[in-house]
Amino acid sequence: MSVPINLVVLGPPGAGKGTQAVELAQQRRIPKISTGDILREAVQSGSELGQRAKATMDAGRLVDDELMIAIVRERVSRPDAAGGFVLDGFPRTVSQATALDEIMSGQGALLVVDIAVPDDALVARLARRRVCGQCGDTTAVEADAETPRCARCGGELVLRSDDTESVVRQRLRVYHEATKPLVDYYSSRATFRSIDGDRSPEAVRQALNEAVDEVLGMLHAGAGAGADR
Ligand code: AMP
Repeated sequence: MSVPINLVVLGPPGAGKGTQAVELAQQRRIPKISTGDILREAVQSGSELGQRAKATMDAGRLVDDELMIAIVRERVSRPDAAGGFVLDGFPRTVSQATALDEIMSGQGALLVVDIAVPDDALVARLARRRVCGQCGDTTAVEADAETPRCARCGGELVLRSDDTESVVRQRLRVYHEATKPLVDYYSSRATFRSIDGDRSPEAVRQALNEAVDEVLGMLHAGAGAGADR
């Protein structure tokens, strides 16, 4: 039987987790589960969840653990995630990580890849990040570009409401306080890898795929102490 790819992509805001998660999920034919996307869709639809989350997101803070854990517990239990998934944006706190271990117990190993990028590179990247208002694709614009359009569908590119400079700085503070400790939480596991994300998206994609294949190879061989988590 093949080993499910239960992959967590860790990394600071702007590390490229979303872009890499989409591609890897498509390639490996497993769903990408992005908690940020789930929340943004809820905000757009005006649902109760969206109304609860909007102010927190716009302030660059984290939505409460209990709510996020409930969302992910439900999502990973759907049939399309039985053969694995790519989680982008979850877990973001140690409580979320311990809950994920509990959710996944007996469901196969969790693979964790951290995309590491220094802060100054992130601030510059997020200033250039735009999202297509039509198809939702994320892209980087040049500083001097006038009214840029989406290369995929021609839609208007907009700044995400939490990508303004002050909110970006707040999100980075939250990342260092709440989410970076997850690298310590996972780093002793045989299924953890850290890759250098301060490179082109293509180079990061290759490193991510290599890391995943290496861990899968190890799991297939049944090697690695602690690889059953
Ligand atoms: P992202 O698209 O992953 O950068 O997420 C955008 C925003 O959604 C974050 O700044 C948080 O306000 C919220 N969010 C997304 N995922 C989580 C999570 N796992 N825990 C708490 N808040 C989250």
